[in-house]
Amino acid sequence: MEFKNSYLQGVYETVQRRNAGEPEFLQAVREVLESFEPVLEKRPELEKTGIIDRIVEPERMITFRVSWVDDSGKVQVNRGYRVQFNSAIGPYKGGLRLHPSVNASVIKFLGFEQVFKNSLTGLPMGGAKGGSDFDPKGKSDGEVMRFCQSFMTELYRHIGPDTDVPAGDIGVGAREIGYLFGQYKRITNQFVGVLTGKGLTYGGSLARKEATGFGLCYFTQEMLAEMKQDSFAGKTVVISGSGNVAIYACQKATQLGAKVVAMSDSNGFIYDEKGIDLAVVQEIKEVRRGRIKEYLDAVPTATYTQGCRGIWGIKCDIALPCATQNELDGDDAGKLIANGVMAVAEGANMPSTPEAVAKFQKAGVLFGPAKAANAGGVATSGLEMSQNSMRYSWSFDEVDEKLRHIMVGIFHNAYDASKEFGDAGNLVMGANIAGFLKVADAMQWQGVAY
Ligand code: NDP
Repeated sequence: MEFKNSYLQGVYETVQRRNAGEPEFLQAVREVLESFEPVLEKRPELEKTGIIDRIVEPERMITFRVSWVDDSGKVQVNRGYRVQFNSAIGPYKGGLRLHPSVNASVIKFLGFEQVFKNSLTGLPMGGAKGGSDFDPKGKSDGEVMRFCQSFMTELYRHIGPDTDVPAGDIGVGAREIGYLFGQYKRITNQFVGVLTGKGLTYGGSLARKEATGFGLCYFTQEMLAEMKQDSFAGKTVVISGSGNVAIYACQKATQLGAKVVAMSDSNGFIYDEKGIDLAVVQEIKEVRRGRIKEYLDAVPTATYTQGCRGIWGIKCDIALPCATQNELDGDDAGKLIANGVMAVAEGANMPSTPEAVAKFQKAGVLFGPAKAANAGGVATSGLEMSQNSMRYSWSFDEVDEKLRHIMVGIFHNAYDASKEFGDAGNLVMGANIAGFLKVADAMQWQGVAY
């Protein structure tokens, strides 16, 4: 489909030419550029200043070899990445992903999205992302440690507390952040806030672990209240994934009065009509690093189905995709709509395909896009950076309250922008525009050699 605006069409064709064979990155750029059509009508000078041409090109992209020794003594080689996408409003900030599917396209799509997400939080953070095609699944602690140490032995020269502050993402939790931090400190001889998601004993923030899932629910609660005068209370919820985001989304949705009936991992999904017993899931996933099907050992009345996609066939009022990109397609959206879903909010990054998003919007389903709905994680990372700079720690309740306040603010910024630019309630457009305008303004002030 062509853009109505010929300038945007030209920008997109350049991005396609420069990034051929990178479908995830092109998908993310196209969605954002589509939102800019009404912005260019009001702000035609953006074409002359080339802000949009510049914002789709990363400031810097680093790839590097990561060699490490496995438990049998054999040398293994992975590829490491860090994309430093935009630093107009603050130091680069964004997570590290360890998963076999990681490649340049995935890292660039995530880095690009991060620019707008970080801007939406209202905190001074630029956008970045990184990771490797290393698969932590099935590896021993020693292997994960040696990989992380090798990864940081190159990455350390590109990051710093005022330059670039990585965090966790898929496959990177407390264990990996600890090994990465230890190696950074060893090499630089500096104890500084160079990573977020740290353990509480060495500079981590209370409520960071919970932040993305909790934030997703605070955003969804505000969206339901403002746009449907409704809430989580009494609703049936389906959550994909059973990792960091999914677990704390389940906890908060339940606290807000909903019943979560299904969760998944990359092999399959569980359905528990009585409501998921989260302590069982946490024991399997956080303590034993096991598989979601083991839930049935503790709760034999639940069911397990092989294949994770079938989860979207379960009847629910609210769907929270919290696993990975493109996990919910047009057919899945059709099933959710036929079953009467009223709201979908994205905990994962870009979990819904463009066809799925279009179907939800056409059917009048409330739709909270990832950039806005899952920004609670990076927002709380921003709060961790503030605490590190102050050498001070806030209580759990203080951080949680700041997080809630930020998520409510993000919803209203996106909703207000959707109204101002002529498509009230289109939060995809609203989030993209609200995130963009602040970065665009900062880039303009800082001149062209940027
Ligand atoms: P985790 O590694 O903790 O968990 C990921 C979950 O998703 C696991 O249950 C995993 O199953 C499942 N999963 C991964 N790949 C697939 C796949 N291809 N198909 C089906 N299921 C899959 O990661 P997080 O919870 O941290 O991240 C989940 C999503 O949320 C990602 O999109 C991430 O970018 C996004 N996000 C995370 C933030 C954070 O603070 N952690 C912040 C903002 C966004 P399995 O165990 O079988 O691999």
